[in-house]
Amino acid sequence: MNGKSLKARLIERISAHGPITVADYMLSCLADSEAGYYATREPFGEKGDFITAPEVSQMFGELIGAFFLQAYEAMGSPNSFQLVEMGPGRGTLMKDLLRMASLRPEFIAAAQLSLVETSARLREIQAKTLANGPLTPRFRNQLADLPPGPLFLVANEFFDALPVHQFVKDANGWHERQVGLSDGGQLVFGIGPTRLPDTDLPRTAHFADTGEILETQPASNAIAAEIGNRLARDGGSALVIDYGYTKSAPGDTLQALCNQTFDNVLANPGTADLTAHVNFEALAIAAHGAGAVSFTPLEQGEFLLKLGLLERAGALGSGKSPDVQNTIRDAVERLAAPDQMGRLFKVLALSGNSRPIKPFDSLGDTSQGSDKVPETGANA
Ligand code: SAH
Repeated sequence: MNGKSLKARLIERISAHGPITVADYMLSCLADSEAGYYATREPFGEKGDFITAPEVSQMFGELIGAFFLQAYEAMGSPNSFQLVEMGPGRGTLMKDLLRMASLRPEFIAAAQLSLVETSARLREIQAKTLANGPLTPRFRNQLADLPPGPLFLVANEFFDALPVHQFVKDANGWHERQVGLSDGGQLVFGIGPTRLPDTDLPRTAHFADTGEILETQPASNAIAAEIGNRLARDGGSALVIDYGYTKSAPGDTLQALCNQTFDNVLANPGTADLTAHVNFEALAIAAHGAGAVSFTPLEQGEFLLKLGLLERAGALGSGKSPDVQNTIRDAVERLAAPDQMGRLFKVLALSGNSRPIKPFDSLGDTSQGSDKVPETGANA
């Protein structure tokens, strides 16, 4: 600890070594072990910077539990498997998932629980949340540390916290956006020399105007490929839930949130949460390239309703006071209404084979290749 703020350290680093990429900036802000956002802040819940779906209602994790029970049975109820959550936050989703999964004691008996979490502080909270539950978690730094065996994996609002690179279109192509210093020594965006190869451009980028921004997410895609590889090898399925888009396209989605309001991305490094929207098409292509099958993503609202959100809400509210029933009704709205989390949030399912897993019914289209250039130039 040298006592300097993360902002002061970033300014020193940039003045000594030159501008850094947006991805490096995002990584420092979120993951710096002394002053990074996840190392220091209590982001979740009503008092935090943002409220995630598991913190809105227990129904969210319970329905994900119902999904995995079906997936487990569809796989012939293997007698041993890895149950994994990436980036579990407070551990709430897993606690609720396990409540639902406990309806099938054989599921619990076959499961080994692992939480992939880098923040020591959050690991403690997760261990406490799960302390009286049916399974004791093992903590892992990365997927590669998991034992072999069939895999059931969930990641909610995990990928949006992984670093993205940004590229800006100018007269000569797309160049990497950087964070540098103004004449007055403050953090400012600039454009660096690194050019995005044409082979990495999605089709829609060929029609972009000067000044438009394109994001790439190599860290996220590498994890999706690792999950895909594992599913293809050992079987199982994975759910990725996050806000994002299902067709690659230009757009600046990097955002900072502080106390539930948007903040300037460069203003409060380490204090504000920084996220970017997830490119689900790129995740599906990466997993598919590693041998897994992807299903057409569902919007969160549709996913939850098909899994029985209304029935679960009815059962939870039955015989309760009007106040409790109103709270449950509000939670349903919040999770599933199109103008709340229902449409912006998407659910991607990956599997080791192409057997449908409810409620997903069609295979995803990974043939286009978001990273392919049109073969006949800009008019293709
Ligand atoms: N899933 C939770 C929390 C999402 S916040 C919820 O829905 O409430 C993101 C989580 O991912 C945090 O727990 C954070 O510490 C963790 N995280 C961020 N980057 C990570 C990485 N590279 N490896 C493992 N965990 C990470």
